[in-house]
Amino acid sequence: MKRIIIAEDEPAIAAFLDKKLRENGLKTSIAKDGYQALHLAFSHQYDLLILDLGLPGIDGTEVMEELRGQGEQIPIIILTARDEVKDKVSGLEGGANDYVTKPFSFEELLARIRLQLRQLTKNEHKSPRPLRVGNIILDVRSRTVKVGDRSIELSNQEFILLDTLMRHPNQALSRDQLLNYVWGYDYESSSNIVDVYIGYLRKKLGRDLIETVRGVGYKLRKL
Ligand code: CA
Repeated sequence: MKRIIIAEDEPAIAAFLDKKLRENGLKTSIAKDGYQALHLAFSHQYDLLILDLGLPGIDGTEVMEELRGQGEQIPIIILTARDEVKDKVSGLEGGANDYVTKPFSFEELLARIRLQLRQLTKNEHKSPRPLRVGNIILDVRSRTVKVGDRSIELSNQEFILLDTLMRHPNQALSRDQLLNYVWGYDYESSSNIVDVYIGYLRKKLGRDLIETVRGVGYKLRKL
């Protein structure tokens, strides 16, 4: 069954879409803000993202930039108000696959969703490729991680954290960035959850791979 993220902050629209998509045999999760949308999309558990542009936290355009900037291929259909035509054009340039204007007809949206999902099935064999940094290989499809010949068992959050670091090798990522990508919440910056999980990864992968960047956060060393 295909799984859809509904990133929409208006409860009535989100509930309507949720109900109608389920009636049409799709599984759904609702993201109420941009952080949750990013979090769900980076979990690699979904086949399509319906993205409202006006979202609290970070808006839909920024969500799309983050996803595409990190090479995330999930199909995106933008939902936008009719008076935001300019946004639509820049949306498609920014990596959206399609757009639907509000107020929208559900049948039209569903047809566009089905079109994207059909194309996805056709392209499935060529994406996504396993990530490789040094001797670490992370395969999103099989959800496996290897360091050299050694298979590593990771929890869901550890897996997403490593995935995020591997998409930015040798680049310092701040604790806030990692929080947003991996946990999807706007945590208090005093929260040490990132440090705790970096500790777990170091234990499992080896001490030298993840470097602490003082005053910033962490980076994955490309050995
Ligand atoms: Ca909105």
